[in-house]
Amino acid sequence: TYVIAEPCVDLLDKACIEECPVDCIYEGGRQMYIHPDECVDCGACEPVCPVEAIYYEDDVPEQWGAYQKANAEFFDEL
Ligand code: SF4
Repeated sequence: TYVIAEPCVDLLDKACIEECPVDCIYEGGRQMYIHPDECVDCGACEPVCPVEAIYYEDDVPEQWGAYQKANAEFFDEL
């Protein structure tokens, strides 16, 4: 799955939403979140993010590692 990290917080540009073929990117409070079970790993959202907030799960920068858990937990709470 792809993960949305800190650069999205309080920005929510939403360019990614237009690209996602399965509509698995959701708005939640201060950032956008990718549903880990719905994402088909197509990668379409990554290049359109103006602040490079989106990463493949294995490529999330170390300082933003917590965002992977945060993306998954956001949907657990729904
Ligand atoms: Fe949607 Fe593809 Fe991005 Fe996953 S990688 S969130 S399926 S656009």
